[in-house]
Amino acid sequence: MQDDGRELHSPNAAARIEYIMEETGEFCITSVIDGKHRPNSLHYSGLAFDLRTRHLKTEDGVKNVAAEIRGALGREYDVVVEKDHIHIEYDPKG
Ligand SMILES: [Zn+2]
Repeated sequence: MQDDGRELHSPNAAARIEYIMEETGEFCITSVIDGKHRPNSLHYSGLAFDLRTRHLKTEDGVKNVAAEIRGALGREYDVVVEKDHIHIEYDPKG
């Protein structure tokens, strides 16, 4: 697989995330390139997005889903639990 950043948008990665989130009852991408992010955020290059997590109720629920997504996407992606969303970015470490 080429490390050119397109993978995040591949049907594969997207379908895996969608599958996992639909199991939780809600699949909602809250932010791709819009919204407020850190100055060098990968959001601005379209390589990051946020998933709404408020329907997950507990911190453990969010952590479990994040772990599942992390496992499904592999180590070229960063999956970070934030206050009200899970941040996912395509960030291969080379
Ligand atoms: Zn984010």
